Amino acid sequence: MINKQQKTKIFLTFLNEKYSDAECSLVHRNPFELLIATVLSAQCTDERVNKVTRVLFDKYPDAESMSDSDPEELMEIVRPTGFYKNKASNILKISKKIAGDYQGKLPLDMEKLTELPGVGRKTANVVLGNFGMAEGIVVDTHVKRITTRIGIVSADDPEKIEKELMVLIPKNRWNKFSHQVIAFGRDICRSRTPKCNECGMNKFCAYFLDKGGVR
Ligand code: SF4
Repeated sequence: MINKQQKTKIFLTFLNEKYSDAECSLVHRNPFELLIATVLSAQCTDERVNKVTRVLFDKYPDAESMSDSDPEELMEIVRPTGFYKNKASNILKISKKIAGDYQGKLPLDMEKLTELPGVGRKTANVVLGNFGMAEGIVVDTHVKRITTRIGIVSADDPEKIEKELMVLIPKNRWNKFSHQVIAFGRDICRSRTPKCNECGMNKFCAYFLDKGGVR
């Protein structure tokens, strides 16, 4: 019987073979832009966020200019991402705090990032991981679903899943791992219709094997 450590090792090798190029799909030029894009990406596709941020960052290229923006105008720009009132309010507060307290430079520090309005551990992990300062693993809906299906985590809560993964996965893979799993989730291990029969992990996947190896 294969244990979680062995299964994780197989999964990491599989991800490296199949998704070696996976990277953050939110377009950004610096940590501040990635933070704003990540806040906007809640309940929205990265593709749509990228369309919105093209306009947003063109008009407000830094925290200072965004902090001076007209709230109504900001709301209109981010409207296509959904939950736009909350998102506009949060990015305005974030940019004011960064412009005011941090001289316009986003602090790459978990504690300071998670003090910003609307920024939780997952969002902070996205920013830190992509700028070489990973302090954890991004556990989004894909990472949660797939690691649970394969059977390498047992918790239900994303923060607990993250802790389990941090024990299993070498630190130098933390950032890449999430991007690779997200790519795998979009490609094969989809939420409603996973393509188990063509999946290279099916021999090791608890979900597939529990169903008698047929899907
Ligand atoms: S076998 Fe199916 S459920 Fe398991 S990882 Fe592959 S696609 Fe996902």
